[in-house]
Amino acid sequence: MDGILNTTTNTVHKHGSRDSHGRTVCGATKYLSDGQLDRVDVDQAVTDKQASKCGRCFSDGGGY
Ligand SMILES: [Zn+2]
Repeated sequence: MDGILNTTTNTVHKHGSRDSHGRTVCGATKYLSDGQLDRVDVDQAVTDKQASKCGRCFSDGGGY
């Protein structure tokens, strides 16, 4: 699944369908620069980087 990783908080977000203001479904990364964001595969980020899932993007997620 397509995701966006916030490398500062190590939280993975669901990628929004449209690349408008918020690049993620929840819009939490709206004010972050591209350097703080990584295009990742959600499952891979969780497995490989121990990233936590955003609670607003994923129903099984934790914090954000
Ligand atoms: Zn999110």
